[in-house]
Amino acid sequence: MASLWARFLAAGALVVVVQWFLPYGLLGDSIIVAAGAAGVVAMVVGVRRYRPARPLPWYLMAAGVAFWATGDGLWTVFDHVLGIDPFPSGADVAYLVAYPLFGVGLHLLARGKGRATDRSALLDALIVAVSVGLVLWVVFIAPTWTDAEGSTLGRFVGVAYPIGDLVLVTQLAHLTAARTSRTPALRLLGVGFVVIFVADLLFQAAAYVPVLDENIGWLDPLWMLAYLFWGAAALHPSLRATGEHERGPQHTLTPRRVAYLALAVAVLPGLVLVERSMGLREHNTEVTFASLPLIALVIARMLGMVRRMQEQADRLAHLADTDFLTGLENARRLSSRVDALIRPAAGGSPQSVALLLVAVERFTEINDTLGLRTGDQLLRAVGARLTTAVDADGVVARLGGESFGILLPGVASGQRAAERAAEVRAAFEEPFHLPELTVTVDVAVGIALAPGDAGTAADLLQRADVALSAARERRDLVASYAEQMHSGGPLTPVLMSELLAALEQDHVVVHFQPQVELRSGRVLGVEALVRWEHPVHGMLGPLAFVPAAERTGLIRQLTLHVLDRSLAQAAAWRADGRTISVSVNLSVRNLLDPHFVEDVRAALERHRIPARQLELEVTETMAMLDPHRSVEVLGALDALGVTLSVDDYGTGYSSLAYLQRLPLQRLKIDRSFVAGVVTDDASAAIVRSTIELARHLGLSVVAEGVEDDETMLALLGMRCFAAQGFGLGRPVPADRIPAMIDEIEGRVAGVVGARVPVQRGA
Ligand code: C2E
Ligand code: MG
Ligand code: MG
Repeated sequence: MASLWARFLAAGALVVVVQWFLPYGLLGDSIIVAAGAAGVVAMVVGVRRYRPARPLPWYLMAAGVAFWATGDGLWTVFDHVLGIDPFPSGADVAYLVAYPLFGVGLHLLARGKGRATDRSALLDALIVAVSVGLVLWVVFIAPTWTDAEGSTLGRFVGVAYPIGDLVLVTQLAHLTAARTSRTPALRLLGVGFVVIFVADLLFQAAAYVPVLDENIGWLDPLWMLAYLFWGAAALHPSLRATGEHERGPQHTLTPRRVAYLALAVAVLPGLVLVERSMGLREHNTEVTFASLPLIALVIARMLGMVRRMQEQADRLAHLADTDFLTGLENARRLSSRVDALIRPAAGGSPQSVALLLVAVERFTEINDTLGLRTGDQLLRAVGARLTTAVDADGVVARLGGESFGILLPGVASGQRAAERAAEVRAAFEEPFHLPELTVTVDVAVGIALAPGDAGTAADLLQRADVALSAARERRDLVASYAEQMHSGGPLTPVLMSELLAALEQDHVVVHFQPQVELRSGRVLGVEALVRWEHPVHGMLGPLAFVPAAERTGLIRQLTLHVLDRSLAQAAAWRADGRTISVSVNLSVRNLLDPHFVEDVRAALERHRIPARQLELEVTETMAMLDPHRSVEVLGALDALGVTLSVDDYGTGYSSLAYLQRLPLQRLKIDRSFVAGVVTDDASAAIVRSTIELARHLGLSVVAEGVEDDETMLALLGMRCFAAQGFGLGRPVPADRIPAMIDEIEGRVAGVVGARVPVQRGA
């Protein structure tokens, strides 16, 4: 079953054919009137049926068709009933009234959804009207201006039709310039206008072309078809969507429209040229008069274009600086603000600024459990709350994800910045009432100051980020970069970015601490302890960067670096005739790294050090983390022949029974137990029993953190195998080790030799 509009058109075509065969007369002309009426009814029915967003334009156009049908009715009455020449007559008044109705209708349709009026469509139509009007004047009106026949009014009325039609066609072309608005309903409407234009033009030409005049009845089907197309347009379902298009595409000047307008404007000089070259009478006055409004219209059109381009440029600039989700400024804009303040253009004086980096805690969890939509709502609400909390003296920007930046110009002291941070955090005590639920969130705040902490926006942001990472680790969730620097706290993000280069530049060095066999006083070997000689922060201990290197994966390079330096050192001592074992600390990642065993083997080979001269230390927690994998790697290392020891024993939760299953040879008792061996009975008991048990399991025990001779002797009394600690020798650079060994061996033998019998007796 064909759709309504198609059936309407088909039925209409049938009527057109019937009308065609009827002789010229009352009946035939009445059918034309009926076709007009059918068009009107179809338009009203269509609008009521499909309810477009803006019905008014369609009602206006329906009224236009009604006036046309009325004109046809008057024509019929004048011609066939009253016997008056119907042209020009009152019928033309009815016809001409229809034009403004159509024009306004199309204009309203072009406005789209409640947007401001777009004048460009109207201007284009007027430009075309002026040019076409000029041509018609020159061709039709001027030659008969002086005719005595009184047909001048008729000429004027006659040319008004094609001009009016062309204006409507231009308006519609404008409306359907955008692909999205090229709906079947508007196409059908357009076909109607084009058909009317052709009919009106031929009707005027009939005055000059005899063949046309003789067959003027041939034009009747054209008018009828136009009515039918308009009716069909309103009956097409796509009517519903007309007027809903966005305004955007219409005011862009497409190449096609430029060509169309250029053609219209070129009519003026073209006409002069044709008249000149053909020796015709020239219409210079008319051309001059026509050119004045034309120039004004073109200027108005161009000004409109320029203004619109300016608006678009402004909008783009605004978009480039705006965070799309929250409508706040984005990181780009914030950076340029910071730079403008701290590094003003020549002439300005730099200002102090504080940057607070604010991150929503547990945001990923919220996003994951409550959904992206809630996450977005929360971010918008957080942005709004920050804006209120900061007031007018600061700028809030969203930097991406769940982090926001607050720029506080003029804040120079860390204390003031910390106060502002506290205010920001206080603003989050109130829960957020989102459309679907209520949540309470906390924020962490990192603080950095310029010029104190950084000289550029990029540096300032990075410093604030470092502070933020530190803040997230703290209970109060606030930290400042400066405070982190001075407390030696986790500067880790900055340091990690520098660590690789530091490894290459040999800023990462290894110190060595002797391990002493208690019974003999002999130095068995040394433990390699990593240090970073940082150009800015000075000598950094392993706690300042090893944990972060573990987190970031740089630990692999770090361990291999320490291993390589330690073995190189062992080889150097060997060359000097001293056999000194080295002990290297591993990290849990090394035990999970399938290549690690191969790396160790290669390093031993490279430095020609026998495996038994290398000791590798793992903490008990490390060994426990992934027992299967670590058993595998430890087994392979054991097979290589290296000595494996458990570091910091006693601080984890492992049992000796479990450790026994690992291929370990040594147990290093943590210094927190060793330190209390002399003074604290519980510590003494633990150390004593651990040594006993370890011996039964075939493990040798090394006591860490031996700071004095009493402790050393107490350990000797417990039959501890070896000791390490500041009381024996501190970690020192490799070149001081030989002298230290000589010193220790001389001294310890003396101490032990003098006190052993006493201890034994105790
Ligand atoms: P650790 O393996 O238990 O190393 C012993 C730590 O105790 C060293 O601290 C050492 O300086 C310190 N120490 C030694 N004797 C005494 C003493 O009598 N009293 C006191 N109070 N401390 C003493 P350091 O060098 O700061 O190293 C700390 C930890 O960093 C090491 O603990 C080790 O777990 C880790 N580490 C050191 N170098 C490396 C390395 O190259 N790689 C890995 N993964 N970790 C390393
Ligand atoms: Mg160690
Ligand atoms: Mg230790």
